[in-house]
Amino acid sequence: MVEGMSLEPAQNEVVFDPAKVRADFPILSRRIGKNPLVYLDNGASSQKPAVVIEAIDRYYREQHANIHRGVHRLSEAATVAYEKAREQVAAFLNAREARECIFTRNATEAINLVAATWGMSRLRKGGEIVLSAMEHHANIVPWQMVADRTGSVIRVVPVTPEGELDMAAFRALLSERTQLVAMAHVSNALGTINPAKEIVAAAHRVGAKVLLDGAQSTAHFPVDVQELDTDFFVFSSHKVCGPTGMGVLYGKADLLSAMPPYQFGGDMIREVDFAGTTFRDIPERFEAGTPHIAGAIGLGVALNYVSALQPEAHRHEQLLLAYATEQLKTVPGLRIVGTAPEKVPVISFLIDGVHPLDIGTLLDSDGIAVRTGHHCTMPLMKALGISGTVRASFAFYNTLEEADLLVASLKRAQAMF
Ligand SMILES: *Cc1c(COP(=O)(O)O)cnc(C)c1O
Repeated sequence: MVEGMSLEPAQNEVVFDPAKVRADFPILSRRIGKNPLVYLDNGASSQKPAVVIEAIDRYYREQHANIHRGVHRLSEAATVAYEKAREQVAAFLNAREARECIFTRNATEAINLVAATWGMSRLRKGGEIVLSAMEHHANIVPWQMVADRTGSVIRVVPVTPEGELDMAAFRALLSERTQLVAMAHVSNALGTINPAKEIVAAAHRVGAKVLLDGAQSTAHFPVDVQELDTDFFVFSSHKVCGPTGMGVLYGKADLLSAMPPYQFGGDMIREVDFAGTTFRDIPERFEAGTPHIAGAIGLGVALNYVSALQPEAHRHEQLLLAYATEQLKTVPGLRIVGTAPEKVPVISFLIDGVHPLDIGTLLDSDGIAVRTGHHCTMPLMKALGISGTVRASFAFYNTLEEADLLVASLKRAQAMF
């Protein structure tokens, strides 16, 4: 449960109807062999509503031209649509200004951008980067690369056996040497919601900057970057019902403006001369070359779509989480990995004596899509003493009946072993 969001419907509030929402997603009505698709791999990527698919289709059919450079009508229309998408992203994150939102390819590139620019120019020899043991590889490896080059040091906050961040250990790691805290807002492997506001406040007290990896949080509850006071925030479009190939870096304007550019070329320059080149201000400074115009437009539509479903969607997801957790516990030998009190509906589990991959394969034969393996969190798996899990990750368009289908299929699979 997210602070400030009640599980009780407010007066006059419409009750969330997943059947109605499901009709918006063409793919959800397809079958896998003889079974209806039960899509529980939303942590890896979510499905797309027709409004997003149609907006991208319409853009290519009716509006496409390159942005920023044309005087002709199509180019102007494309530029307006692209910049409107930026406004939609800013509204979604409650950023102060649209120029604080930079379009990237995905969350991974957004983190790499900060590592290559802010990281390479600000990190000192002996300065410390604080990560957690539950980070996605995308929020580990870029920091290892800059730590290598700058002589800075990575410190890791441990995770409790329940899958929560060890906040006491986190506070103890902070010091005047800490330059950056880079942390998942929500764990993709365990579903844990980390206390982001507390993390940011504690980091700021020692003068460190904070990057929150919002690749999972953005899909499940509203995010307010001003309220969190985070310096950087990243997410991927494809996990929030938007197209692939699109991501966002939010950064406070003063920080972004003081950072060197990331990539170089067209669109990001003010003036080019062989004697020297000057660069544009944010956001163009960080968007070299022709961007993914259709991707931005699709993302804007997706964000409007998911925002309009709140807060009912969040409440439905919490119901799904509680129900699926209880039902999964009735499967003999099943153990849930990650039992933090504050979670999104991502449920990792193991079944005694059965390899996760075999479970995933058997579920697939019933049309149920889950993910198995280390979920790009090898250090977390190592810390928990396991090699991987089966992960069922729900979205607001999933139903209690689908949770029942998962459990029934697992019981059949379990009986086979
Ligand atoms: C998926 C994910 C990423 C990486 O997202 P990409 O879209 O692959 O760049 C990073 N962090 C977390 C927590 C994720 O779940």
